[in-house]
Amino acid sequence: MFEKTISDQTVKFKSTPKKDEFVKVLRKNIHNYFEENNISRHANGEMWLKMVISVVAWGSVYALIMSDILSPYPYLLIPAFSLLGFTSVFIAFAIVHDAVHNAISSKRWVNRFYARFFDFVGGNSYLLRQMHGEHHKWVNIHGIDVTLETHGLFRFTPHEPWKPIHRYQSYYIPILYALGQLHWVMFKDFKWFIGEAHIGNRKNIKHPFIEYVVLIVSKIVFYTVTLVLPMIYLSVSWWFVLICWMSIHLLSGFAFVVVFQCTHIYDGTTYPMPDGEGNIENNYALHVLNTTADFSRKSRIGSWLMGGINIHVVHHMFPNICHVHYPALTEILIETAKEFGIEYQENVKFKDAWKKHWDMIAHLSKPDSTVLEYNDGNDLSVAAA
Ligand SMILES: [Zn+2]
Repeated sequence: MFEKTISDQTVKFKSTPKKDEFVKVLRKNIHNYFEENNISRHANGEMWLKMVISVVAWGSVYALIMSDILSPYPYLLIPAFSLLGFTSVFIAFAIVHDAVHNAISSKRWVNRFYARFFDFVGGNSYLLRQMHGEHHKWVNIHGIDVTLETHGLFRFTPHEPWKPIHRYQSYYIPILYALGQLHWVMFKDFKWFIGEAHIGNRKNIKHPFIEYVVLIVSKIVFYTVTLVLPMIYLSVSWWFVLICWMSIHLLSGFAFVVVFQCTHIYDGTTYPMPDGEGNIENNYALHVLNTTADFSRKSRIGSWLMGGINIHVVHHMFPNICHVHYPALTEILIETAKEFGIEYQENVKFKDAWKKHWDMIAHLSKPDSTVLEYNDGNDLSVAAA
């Protein structure tokens, strides 16, 4: 067991000329792709259609529930609420994630507008932008990657101090993954707004007053629409609506968490730590290739439903590009990486990504587990000739 913390140091990525050359060539190849095909990096027709479908899907399921025709069949009402949860996650995957990365449009207000859909489905888009942005910057770096920060509840990195409870994390993690979304809509946003002054490597953050107002108003709207109105208008008892409301979040919440977790926490990833001067032994692109794996990249339906989050390597490198372009860009990435002898990690099928995720969770449950901090298999540490 060993413990490392990052305290207040400034963390930066250290490169070599050859690593920089890889990034330069990759950027040029990606740039050429858009130039030669004369297409925008932002949303295309397919993306706009998907955005419409996701909102219509949510509205249709909600209308079905509120029509009260399912109320005589409680065993159908619970799956209907659960489906509402999946359509909410679909909105988050298909619209919100791109919007918080300014990938839908070149116009800032357009992205801000669509990001607000997250507030409508129970989250907070302002906080998501802050937290997800810090995760992007410091992926898999213990202490500043916010997605690894669990106050000791989980051991997602070998740098997390081991506690006896972690021995059982393979058993309790699936349950807590399923409760993650419920926790998010009820507590997480308030906790980070009120109880924390840091996000990732940023300290003493002061949130704009207007965002507190949006937080309160949007939570009131969310609870009114999904809980209070069904309690008033459905012909079932209030406590049954409460059970239905909780079922919005369980299965879809589990799916939401697993999709993200499989991309960074898996058997084969690395957990780099900065040296005494705050340097990470890689440039950012190589760091991503060390710590991130795609899955089900060629599944058109899967990628469509997951908003391209399964095609995560190229997403981390070019987060401002709309996800509909990821399959083509990943081919370019693979080709370029091959030229430089750089490993690109992927799992062809979801079941492989899933297994590797749980293998890592089981591995980290042991007090003496270690994981590579840096995979130097790429041999790019030498200066270019
Ligand atoms: Zn992202």
